[in-house]
Amino acid sequence: MKVRSVARIAMLVAVVSVLACGQSTEQRVDTIVSGIVVTMDAERRIYNDGAIAISGDTIVAIGPRAEIEAKYSVRETLDARGKLILPGFVNGHTHVPMTLLRGLHDDVTLNDWLYKYIFPAEAKNVNEDFVRWGTRLALAEQIRSGVTTFADMYYFEDAVAEETKKAGMRGVLGETFIDFPAPDNKTNAAMLAYTEKYLQKWQGDPLIHAAAAPHSIYTCSQKTLQDSAALARKYHAPILIHVAEMKKELDDSLKNNGATPVQYLDRIGLLGPDVVAAHCIFVDEADRKTLAAKQVGCVHNPSSNMMLASGVAPVPEERGAGVAVGLGTDGPAGSNNDLDLMEEMDLAAKLAKITKMSPLALGAKAVVEMATIDGARALHMEKEIGSLEKGKKADLIVISLDEPNGVPVYDIYAALAYALKANDVESVMIGGRFVMKDHKLQTVDEEAAIVKAREYKKSVAASLGME
Ligand SMILES: [Zn+2]
Repeated sequence: MKVRSVARIAMLVAVVSVLACGQSTEQRVDTIVSGIVVTMDAERRIYNDGAIAISGDTIVAIGPRAEIEAKYSVRETLDARGKLILPGFVNGHTHVPMTLLRGLHDDVTLNDWLYKYIFPAEAKNVNEDFVRWGTRLALAEQIRSGVTTFADMYYFEDAVAEETKKAGMRGVLGETFIDFPAPDNKTNAAMLAYTEKYLQKWQGDPLIHAAAAPHSIYTCSQKTLQDSAALARKYHAPILIHVAEMKKELDDSLKNNGATPVQYLDRIGLLGPDVVAAHCIFVDEADRKTLAAKQVGCVHNPSSNMMLASGVAPVPEERGAGVAVGLGTDGPAGSNNDLDLMEEMDLAAKLAKITKMSPLALGAKAVVEMATIDGARALHMEKEIGSLEKGKKADLIVISLDEPNGVPVYDIYAALAYALKANDVESVMIGGRFVMKDHKLQTVDEEAAIVKAREYKKSVAASLGME
């Protein structure tokens, strides 16, 4: 017995030393996440028993789990076998501080909503503190629904950027230009000065892409549009703008400019591969060709377009013309009213189907593309994010398949588009850092943001003479 035990110990020592020896030739990484990996790469590869090796903020390898585990030794693992791992969702258009105005005035036209309710409510209530708390609430809501990158247009955008950075989230964050005194800057000169400082401050930041956001052609003069674009281009910053989002905008543009909104923007030199155009509803065939040729990214917002009865963007035609079309929530006030991008996948597909009276109009795989890789293309960030590939940022989400609505799965894209919900998102990593783990937020004080939102409701309602 004794002899055998000694032999066994000797054998164990030998095995351990072989392992240790093996480890010295392995590459060390920070994290390995394993599960059903839906890459959204060019071949749309799916590894049913896959893994992703992450070092710092970057994916260093991706493939079958056995291969990755043999090649890399690791500090931290997340075993998500049997769950989906996807690139984080991209919310291509929103106004995050408006979470605090959620539900303020719904069921009115866009024109009335803007001019009768929202612009006055903003003038009375929006300051930097409002923006910070609204942003915190929105960061929590977005992380919970698997969004890892969002594009935003609002005021005090530097405060939005600071909060987003603190939460470890990725953002393309545009300071708004508009031809009336805004809550933060009262004149166009002040808007230009603020934005220049803002663009300078965030140059080269790994998470924050500071941008300029001329609101639209119906709220900005030609000069405001051109000045804001010139400033953005001086700093190689993106330009975010609402384009062709309502019939009135098209009619007024035809009357005043003798051109569609897209042709007008092209004529004044605004369009280019740095522009992200929200909505693009009233775009004809010539407009779609222009958007594709100028490499403008478009963002489709089905909830918002339906809620405001703005119209239906010709998404299949835009995609067919080669335009990168992402998805956005818009809102969250008055035109959605939430920040759940998974809902937008579902609605984008169904809206296209009912509009065309064809279930083939826009499929599950297409809308998952729009929420991930095409969303990244629309924001001109496809080299960084949008798919799980070696060399890209480690922005990924883990989605549970263990709830009643998550079984069975015959087709992963159909499950994602039509059956799985935001609360099936379990964990979220952005740039190699977990911002949510097993439904627990790691970087945002959600409870404090909820308490503040309730307080703001009282003061906003009082400022408008509401009960
Ligand atoms: Zn918008």
